[in-house]
Amino acid sequence: MKRRTQPKPEDRPQNTPAKTPAGVAGSAPPGTGESAAPLLAPFLNEVYSRLYQRYGPQGWWPGEGPLDVVIGAILTQAAAWTNVETAMASLTKAGCRSLQAIHRLPVDDLASIIRSSGYFNAKARKLKAFASHVVNRYGGDLSAFLDQEQEPLREELLSIYGIGPETADDIILYAAGKPSFVIDSYTRRIVKRLGVLVQEKGDGYGAFQALFHDNLPHDAPLFNEYHALLDRHAKEACAKTPRCEGCCLKDICATGRSSEGS
Ligand code: SF4
Repeated sequence: MKRRTQPKPEDRPQNTPAKTPAGVAGSAPPGTGESAAPLLAPFLNEVYSRLYQRYGPQGWWPGEGPLDVVIGAILTQAAAWTNVETAMASLTKAGCRSLQAIHRLPVDDLASIIRSSGYFNAKARKLKAFASHVVNRYGGDLSAFLDQEQEPLREELLSIYGIGPETADDIILYAAGKPSFVIDSYTRRIVKRLGVLVQEKGDGYGAFQALFHDNLPHDAPLFNEYHALLDRHAKEACAKTPRCEGCCLKDICATGRSSEGS
C-alpha cells in the first residue's frame, strides 16, 4: 500500500524531530542473538540517523487537516496515492468532503465518487462506517474523537468496520498526532533484511510495532519521520529486489553484508 503526499516544505509537521532521537546514541549491529536486545535502541537510532541524512525530512501528513488524513488512510488501502488524490478531488467536487456529507450519502453514490481509488465498494462502506461512528457518537466532531487518550482511541478505531491496525495507527499518528508507530509492508521488509529479530514475540503487526515502541522515545514527530523515511528507503533502495550497492545501511545490514562478494 501506500498513501503519500508529495512533500512540500510548508507541509512539514511542526516540531520536526532532530536528526537523532533523544535518549539514544551511537550505533551497533542488528540483533543477532540473546544479547541483542540492549543494542536495539542505538541500532534503530543509527538507522534513523542514516536515513535522515540520506533523504532529509519527508514532510508527510497532516496535509490539509485530520479529516484528509482519515479519508486518505482509508482510501489508500491497496491503492497508489495518485489515485487516492483523484478520489479526494472527486469528493470535493461532489461537495462530500465532510463527515456529515459522507454519513448522509447513499453508499452506492459514495462508491461511484471514489471509484478511482480502487475497491471502491468496500472503501465506500468503510468511509461511511467511520463517518457514521463519529457523527453518531461525537456529533460529527472529529477533534473530540481524536483528542481522547491513545489506547482507548486505538481500541475504538479498531472497533470500526474496515479499520485495521495499520489504518488505525495512520490515523493516531498523522491525524491525532499521538505516538503509535505505523507498520506497513515496507517496514517489515526492511526490518527483516536488516536482521533485527522480532520473531521472539511473533511475526505479527504487534511484534514489529513493539520493536520501535520498546526501543525509541514515544515521540510523534519522530515516529512520523521514521516511518516516512522507511517508506522512502523501500522505494529508493530496499525494493523488492534490494539495491544494496550504495545503500546507506549496507555495512550494518545483515542482508547487505551477506551480499558482499556474491
Ligand atoms: S543493504 Fe540492501 S537489504 Fe539492507 S537495507 Fe540496504 S538495500 Fe535493503
